[in-house]
Amino acid sequence: MSRYWSAVVHGLTPYVPGEQPKLDNLVKLNTNEHPYGPSPRALEAIHAATSDGLRLYPDPNADALKQALARRYKVTPEQIFVGNGSDEVLAHAFMALLRHERPLWFPDITYSFYPVYCGLYDIAARTIPLDADFAIRTEDYLPQGEERAGAIIFPNPNAPTGRLLPLADIERIVAGNPDAVVVVDEAYVDFGGESALALVDRYPNLLVIQTFSKSRSLAGLRVGFAVGHAALIEALERVKNSFNSYPLDRLAIAGAVASVEDDDYFVDSCRKVVATRERVVSDLAALGFDVLPSAANFIFARHPQRDAAELAASLRQRAIIVRHFRQPRIEQFLRITIGTDAQCQTLVAALKDILAS
Ligand SMILES: *Cc1c(COP(=O)(O)O)cnc(C)c1O
Repeated sequence: MSRYWSAVVHGLTPYVPGEQPKLDNLVKLNTNEHPYGPSPRALEAIHAATSDGLRLYPDPNADALKQALARRYKVTPEQIFVGNGSDEVLAHAFMALLRHERPLWFPDITYSFYPVYCGLYDIAARTIPLDADFAIRTEDYLPQGEERAGAIIFPNPNAPTGRLLPLADIERIVAGNPDAVVVVDEAYVDFGGESALALVDRYPNLLVIQTFSKSRSLAGLRVGFAVGHAALIEALERVKNSFNSYPLDRLAIAGAVASVEDDDYFVDSCRKVVATRERVVSDLAALGFDVLPSAANFIFARHPQRDAAELAASLRQRAIIVRHFRQPRIEQFLRITIGTDAQCQTLVAALKDILAS
């Protein structure tokens, strides 16, 4: 606390990201990074970009990236917004599109950055409980008489549950709220979900946000994007250009373009993660864990006889880090990122050992 602070700062509760410990030989399964690294072509492009022009400002519109994304996802560049990680895209969306008289609706168990942005931008929120199986209930997001959402946001698959809402349910929510923006945060959709990008041409109130951090294994580069109707994109551009008109640097633009253009690597590396996930799910089930159905690059699991915080601490003693949230309803779950096969075998062996003791 300091008397020099602006008043708003006193009331902020910042987001706490998963830790990034600086230790060797760690099995790091706590922040949903992709284990295989980015396309080699992305690394080459970043390297090439270092030698030809860091002296110059980057393209403020990142046109090369918008064009590459437009080709890949069959939309126009005017339907695309890019930012420094999807967290920044989300921040601009909260400011530009989600701040209304009526409250913003999102699930009670969801990405914990949403309530943080509500605090920063002074947005009233209404949290809607997931059902007993930790699934989003579509009907809960439709107008109930006079009660309607100012806007709606949820991840699909949801985080940290990993549960996927089918595209038909997304469409019901978007179609059922024609006066409200619906943001679908698809940070994990490439690991087995069906993207709502297919709906953006039909619904002017739908904004889909994706990131290069998870499925493209470029968390360190900080690139995310949104796709929606040109009017929604214009709102995001207005906010961004009132804040920082050069969000993506030259290296990020170069690496992201090359990543988008290397579809074979992308598809193949995601497929490997999904195959590993299916093995881990059955291995943990064999150890007695309840594992929620996951369409993401992580799983959310609890053991009926073992305390989650203690399990996480025991794993940590064995240099394996997973994520545990001290939060109502989910304090007995562990969120475990899908790493390489070898990392996941180490995890399963450690849990077997811990459960036997
Ligand atoms: C990881 C994540 C993001 C943010 O990713 P960036 O690295 O900022 O692109 C956004 N939403 C959800 C649900 C996430 O899990």
